[in-house]
Amino acid sequence: MSLMSEIRHAARLELEENRRRAEKNHQKSLETAYRRCPELEAVDHEMRLASLNLVQKMAPGRGVDEAQSALDGLREKRKRLLKEAGMVSTATDFRPFCKECNDTGRINGKPCKCYERAMTRAMLAVSRIGTLCKEQTFKNSDLSLFSEQHDPKFGMSSRQNYAEMTEICKDFAKNIKRADGESLYLYGSAGLGKTYLCSAIAERAMKNGHSVLYYSAFELFRVAPSDMEGLLSLLEEVDLLILDDLGTEYVSEYSAALFFHIVNARINAKKKTVISSNLNLTDLATTYSTRVASRIGGAYTLLPFFGKDLRCNNC
Ligand SMILES: [Zn+2]
Repeated sequence: MSLMSEIRHAARLELEENRRRAEKNHQKSLETAYRRCPELEAVDHEMRLASLNLVQKMAPGRGVDEAQSALDGLREKRKRLLKEAGMVSTATDFRPFCKECNDTGRINGKPCKCYERAMTRAMLAVSRIGTLCKEQTFKNSDLSLFSEQHDPKFGMSSRQNYAEMTEICKDFAKNIKRADGESLYLYGSAGLGKTYLCSAIAERAMKNGHSVLYYSAFELFRVAPSDMEGLLSLLEEVDLLILDDLGTEYVSEYSAALFFHIVNARINAKKKTVISSNLNLTDLATTYSTRVASRIGGAYTLLPFFGKDLRCNNC
């Protein structure tokens, strides 16, 4: 099963589970009502028979009116019984989990909001982003955290720079599937909001229905080679791969080879990747390899970050 169909499958399972829960609640409400008013159970039984009778009489000229009025009479009796037992008339109504689509997941052939929410949850479970991107979104981005002071080396303030980088990331997140678009390489020292933007891109991409996989370089290169086999196809196939915090981990021959393989395979498959790192391209060539630096230099948009560490108040 492809990654996207696995995600859709998980979302459908969630909807089915909601439906089952709604039916269970309905059953419970009936059992409670029957305990309080045993006659109600008999009326419900009679109503089922009367409905069946009505369906049979639907054929022309077969006494529909009589069958209908019998059913209406039973409905009235049911209402009265509920009232006499001190229950509201809707006490035993079936209550779907989602009133909008009656738990079908679709409205007029279009996906219901409940299905979209289930899709996002399923994608989150696969993407490993977890709770991170609930808060770290483009909407919540706060430019006032960045200094307005002009930096002569870069010809602008870190706030101006971050605003520009944010716009590029937003545009990127909108066009994940564009074959001619470039991937992104976010680089600069720690605490400049790179992970925040990675997270915001992931959130937007998932909202737009793309599959996303997030890994910090440290976690990814710690995966045992024996477990990597299954993961590798996912890393190659996912619509958007985010590799965060590259450059802080221990680099071995294995991790350098793996990193090149992933970067290269995704470029060849025209799949988008976002890498955040504390290494510029020159440092990347020294730390990993010149071939991976040159692949990234040729197919990625380089986004430099500068300024003061946002996590450090006193420096
Ligand atoms: Zn719904």
